[in-house]
Amino acid sequence: MASIVFEQVTKSFDRTAIIRDLDLTIEDGKFTVLVGPSGCGKTTLLRMIAGIGPQTSGRVLIDGKDVSRVAPGQRGVAMVFQNYAIYPTMSVRENIEFGLKNNKVPKEERKRLVESIGETVGLSGLLDRKPSALSGGQRQRVALARAMVKKPSVFLMDEPLSNLDAKLRVQMRVELIELHKKLGTTFVYVTHDQTEAMSMADTIVLMNEGVIQQMSSPAEMYHRPANRFAAEFIGLPPMNIAELGPDGVQLGFRPESAALSEEPLDHHLCIRGVIATREMLGSETIYQVRTDKQAYMVRSAEDRFEVDRPVYVGVPAEKLHFFGADGRRIDE
Ligand code: ATP
Repeated sequence: MASIVFEQVTKSFDRTAIIRDLDLTIEDGKFTVLVGPSGCGKTTLLRMIAGIGPQTSGRVLIDGKDVSRVAPGQRGVAMVFQNYAIYPTMSVRENIEFGLKNNKVPKEERKRLVESIGETVGLSGLLDRKPSALSGGQRQRVALARAMVKKPSVFLMDEPLSNLDAKLRVQMRVELIELHKKLGTTFVYVTHDQTEAMSMADTIVLMNEGVIQQMSSPAEMYHRPANRFAAEFIGLPPMNIAELGPDGVQLGFRPESAALSEEPLDHHLCIRGVIATREMLGSETIYQVRTDKQAYMVRSAEDRFEVDRPVYVGVPAEKLHFFGADGRRIDE
């Protein structure tokens, strides 16, 4: 297990700083997810931890030790990528064993370890198959097992589920949460998918353009977004934002915090509009309500409101979020 600390870290490519003076502490043993839009610098951060794309200036510490001059192989970290990097000509067993052979582990010990790790990731019956005879999810498990066999103190994962279909991704999310519990190791996971971040993280680090926007638990990020960027990035459909007059204050509410009604509701902020679209999803319906200025998304358990009907969007006062002209959250 190990904590990871970035101290005043800058990373430049061709003299352009992608990340500038970054301070960040990733806690020991936690499942930390780095999330943000494409190009915000997530992979760059992960590569600095791994040592495969070192920082331009500043320090990176793993378990309290400055690793700036430590080679990737000596850092006690293992990396799992989107393209699982497994050898197609080797069996599952050989793939997992590969890392151990290099470390000169005795044969019996190797066999025992491969079987125990195979069991941990759910590959027990498949150890003698070739990767071509495995599903995408099983291949991803082989990649995880290959990383685990080296007993790293930090697992780094870069969009490891993005090649899997939607159903399998959901299943693998649960498996990764369980794996993290079993191992108790520090996990650092990169994704651009806020749902993945919300469902797996102990701590989310939300980035935009190389800058950390908010670092908190998923619940905190959802209920108390630090700024407008966080408010709109986390949650689907995203938070509705309305301009509140000329002083630049913006008001936000989540689609599920609003109710639709024919008459204005007491003690609610009420916005008058017309139903523009209705999308029935089974247990809930997503409406788009248009006013003459803008559109709002509303998520409702009721499906009785028809397109083109005038309605009120009502939001209880305690569900409103306020953001200043600079985009930062304003607290009550
Ligand atoms: P994605 O989700 O698309 O993978 P990301 O958040 O992981 O994005 P990075 O890969 O860290 O983003 O890239 C951050 C920025 O650094 C991007 O603008 C990218 O173009 C730039 N960048 C990354 N690697 C290099 C490189 N080797 N040379 C020049 N620029 C680079």
